Amino acid sequence: MHALKVYYKEIRISTHNRFELIDITHEVEQIVEESGVRNGMCLVFAPHATAAIIANEHESGLISDILTKIKELTDPGSSKWRHNIIDDNAHAHIGSALIGADRVFPVINGRLVRGTWQNIFVVEMDGPRSLRHIIVMVMGE
Ligand code: ZN
Repeated sequence: MHALKVYYKEIRISTHNRFELIDITHEVEQIVEESGVRNGMCLVFAPHATAAIIANEHESGLISDILTKIKELTDPGSSKWRHNIIDDNAHAHIGSALIGADRVFPVINGRLVRGTWQNIFVVEMDGPRSLRHIIVMVMGE
C-alpha cells in the first residue's frame, strides 16, 4: 500500500511588461522533485483572472508570436469591451478565459512529464505586476 501524498507550494513572480511569458519550468520541476511523489500528477494553477498557464516552446520568435496572437484575439483597449468602462483590462480577462488558468502534467518515476518543446509559462496579459502567485500541487504516491 502506498499512501497518497499531497504537496503544495507557491511560486512568486513579478512581471515587467503588460504582455509577457515567464518560464517557470525549472521552479515547477524542482517542486515535483521536493514533493517526493513518484507517480501522480502536478497541477500548475494561476489564481488570477488576467493571467494564464501554457506549455510550449521557449524560443524567442515563438514567444513573440504567441503574444502577438493573444493581442490580435483579445483586442486590448477596444471600446467594444464593456469591462473597459470600469477597468482597463477586458482583453486580459478574455485571454485568461480562452487560454485557461491551469495546466496538469503527469508525474512518472519522480519526474514531471512534458514534451521536449513544452516549457511551462505564465502568460501575463495585464502587467506589470509586483506579485503573481502560481500554485503548484503535486499529488500521487
Ligand atoms: Zn478587470
